[in-house]
Parts: sequence; structure tokens; C-alpha cells
Amino acid sequence: MKLRDVVIGANASIYYKLNFKKIKGVYYPRVEQDVLAAIAHAQQNGLTVTPKGGGSGLSGACTGGNDERIMISTLQMKEILSVSKDQGYIDVQPGITPDKINEFLTPMGLRFFVAPSSRDVATVGGVLSTDGGGNDTWINGTMRDNTIRVKMILYDGRSLTVDSKGVKSNDLGLEENLNKKGMTIHDVANSHGTLGFITELRLLIRPTVKEALMGGLTEFPDCNVLGKALQNMIEKKIKINYGEAITEAHPDVREDLKPPLHVIEFPVELESEVREIVDFRRLDSKELARMKDVRVKLPKRNPKVGIQVALFEDYGFYDTSLIKLQDGIDTINALLIEHGMTPFAKYGHGPSKWYSGDNSPTYGLILHSREIKPEGKQSQDVYDTVLAIVDICDELKVTPKPEHKWPFSDEVKKKRLEEIRAVIGRGFNPFLLSPECNDILGSMV
Ligand SMILES: Cc1cc2nc3c(=O)[nH]c(=O)nc-3n(C[C@H](O)[C@H](O)[C@H](O)COP(=O)(O)OP(=O)(O)OC[C@H]3O[C@@H](n4cnc5c(N)ncnc54)[C@H](O)[C@@H]3O)c2cc1C
Repeated sequence: MKLRDVVIGANASIYYKLNFKKIKGVYYPRVEQDVLAAIAHAQQNGLTVTPKGGGSGLSGACTGGNDERIMISTLQMKEILSVSKDQGYIDVQPGITPDKINEFLTPMGLRFFVAPSSRDVATVGGVLSTDGGGNDTWINGTMRDNTIRVKMILYDGRSLTVDSKGVKSNDLGLEENLNKKGMTIHDVANSHGTLGFITELRLLIRPTVKEALMGGLTEFPDCNVLGKALQNMIEKKIKINYGEAITEAHPDVREDLKPPLHVIEFPVELESEVREIVDFRRLDSKELARMKDVRVKLPKRNPKVGIQVALFEDYGFYDTSLIKLQDGIDTINALLIEHGMTPFAKYGHGPSKWYSGDNSPTYGLILHSREIKPEGKQSQDVYDTVLAIVDICDELKVTPKPEHKWPFSDEVKKKRLEEIRAVIGRGFNPFLLSPECNDILGSMV
């Protein structure tokens, strides 16, 4: 394995200008003992630790910032340790991908229901650390909803097991302190490698059930009407297995699409309930497959002039911002144009689920965004635009990057991680919670 493959990995984020000289070692452990040895080396030499999975995280956390650090890759920790069909769990090492787990489970009629688009490269350790999920989080939840417990090694070599109720450790004092703080799996979810190194996960698995599904397409006069329809589906808790909205697409790649539109797939017996909300046109399986394909290909295509970029990646519209979806999009687009960017496409999952920093579940539309970047735009300008978007999200009551999680813009999550780190130590990915975080990330764009 090449050093660059581990350090950069599948990095599709905008943060890729790494100072390799600051990386003092890259480790590829196979078992917990190897992880302990790597962490001990870091501790003895005053280095920080960056855990690394597939490197597909988009928040910049998996780069490790600019600290003198070691990186511990999980790419050699991809064993399935045990499986219990009766009790509905699978124990795995952190470096396995959701696709590999399901390759193993499918012949047994079982499934692990967390499916980010990056499921072929993202590791379960990384997916929990970003609390990722696919376009079915509305019915299957995010990674934290599908993780029963994790084992972690801390910077001082002590270990923990964390589940939804609390913490267990051989160090009873540590266990008591963390349970007093109320630490649970919710704290590990979306912690971006700032707490410790996950060495093992127990994941929820369920039998695959064959359902008769129906596909439908609805075109809307504007995004406010689309937002209201989504809010209605959320309030009525309608089981939408697949829900993808396209709210805008550049004429060069739009083909015959008429955004704003919403493509859905749901159990046939819910047809009348869904019809009460949207007057959809039924899609046969071929048309549905084509719409899914168009949606996947949309961000992969380029305009005739210029290159499209994922400047901010995604926005979480919910409650009032969902009902005023069009107004929110117009405000965001005006800001993008002001910063010289041309809106290219917006599309995403809805109804969808994500968690906010206080661990409360949020339901809405995760809207991905692509832009055309003008030639010659400097990195600092790009990053300033990103920061301006975060401010606009705040004004609009939109969650910034709900899927790709940006902990350093979520003060509640940051405070909580600091509270726990005061007990367990601060040796993992410290740059992420430091006041300089934005400057460090900006220097890597
Ligand atoms: C093309 C593409 C599509 C994507 N689609 C989705 C999507 O549909 N849904 C979604 O939610 N995300 C998506 N993502 C984002 C990304 O795949 C997720 O954030 C993923 O969960 C990261 O997993 P990883 O193994 O690549 O982790 P990395 O990028 O390597 O690391 C992510 C974070 O986890 C930490 N970490 C990794 N392993 C451990 C460990 N063992 N212990 C402690 N901390 C650890 C790292 O330090 C870092 O902070 C996409 C990314 C790309 C490039």
C-alpha cells in the first residue's frame, strides 16, 4: 500500500494540500495490540493521532490538519469477527466497508442497513465517526441507529466499550467518570476521530424482506410546494423507501428533466396515503431505474464551459426552512453568485433523517449542491465562500452539511466533545476542535 493512498485515501474533500513532513508515521494495524503499540509511540513522542478509514470523509477531519502526527489506518482491520442471526448482530473490525459486510450477509438472507453512496470505500469505523447514512436514513436511520456498541482505545492506552446506555471499562474510575457525564454511543457518532480509536463494532443486522414497491414522479411549480409535500410526508410518517428530489439542474445536463421534481418508491399498499399528499405519475420499473440513474449521474457530468465543484456539498432543510425551501435556495444561490460561483445542480434525499449536535433526530431534506467555479478563483476565496455559506445556513435555520458533518460549525457538539475529552485526553485529532480549525482547513484548500 502506498503512503499517499493512506494519507489522502479516497479524499474527495476540498482539503488536500497536506504537509507530508508533519506526518511522522503511518501504521496499518491488524489487531488491537498493534493499535496500542502505535498509540504508545505517539504518546511517548508527543505526537497526535489521526485515525483513518477509507479517507472518503468530506469534513477535512481525516486529514489530521497540520499537527505533527501519526496516522493509523484501518485498511488492514477488515475482519468479520462473529455473527448472530438470532440476536441480530455482527461483530466486525473497523476497516470493513458496508458493501463487504453485505456481501457476507446476503447469502444468509440478512442485511446491514447503512448504505452511504461511498459504501464501497467508506469503512464502518469512519461511517460511525461521521454518523453517515444513505438515501434511506428516513426508514433505516443513520449509522448510530445501527450500531449496538463499539470498543475504543484512548490516547493513554486505556480501553472502553460504549453502547446506547453508557460506558464499560476495566478502569472502574474512568467508567464511573464517563457514566457521570452520560457518555453513550451518541457521543462517538459524528465525533470525527476526536475521542479515541475504534477497534471493534457490533452492528445491527436484520433479515431482508421482499416488499412490493411502487415508483412515482411528481413535478412541482416551485420548491416551496415540494418542501410542503415533504413536510407532510414527515408528519404522517409515511414509509418512503426511496425519495430523491432534484430542485435545479443546469441546462447543459438537464436533459428532459423538469425540476423541481421528486422521485419516490414506497410499498404499494400506501398508494392512497401518498396520493393525498402528491399527485404523482406512476413510474414503471424501467422509468424508475432511469430516474435513479439520472440522479446519480447528474453531479458527475460537466457543463459545456467550466468545471463543476462540490463547494459545500449539502444543506439540511427542515421545519420552517423546508416549508420555505424555494426562498432558502434563492438566498443561497444569490450568495453563490455574489461569490462568483454559478449554481449547477441541487438534488438530494427526502424525507431524510440526521442528528443535530444535541443528539436530537432531525427530519427533512438533505440537499446536495454543485457549482461551477470560475477559472482563477483562489483557494482562499473558495474557503471564504464556504464560511459565508455556514453563516447563511444559520440565518435560514438550515443544518450545514448534515450528511458530511462539520463538527466545528456545531457549537453544541464541539462543547460536548470537549467535555468528554477533559476526562479521556485530547491526543486524537485535536486541530478539529481548536479555535484555529477554520484557518488550518482553509490552508489546505
Ligand atoms: C463519492 C462520495 C460519496 C459519499 N456519499 C455519502 C453518503 O451518501 N452518505 C454519507 O453519510 N456520507 C457520504 N460520503 C462521505 C464519507 O463517505 C463518509 O463520511 C464516510 O463515513 C467516511 O468513512 P471513511 O472510512 O472514508 O472515513 P475517513 O474519511 O477515513 O475518516 C472520517 C473520520 O472518521 C475518523 N475515523 C476513521 N476511522 C476511525 C476509527 N477506527 N476510529 C476512530 N475514528 C475513525 C477519522 O479520523 C475522520 O475524522 C461520501 C463521500 C464520497 C467521497
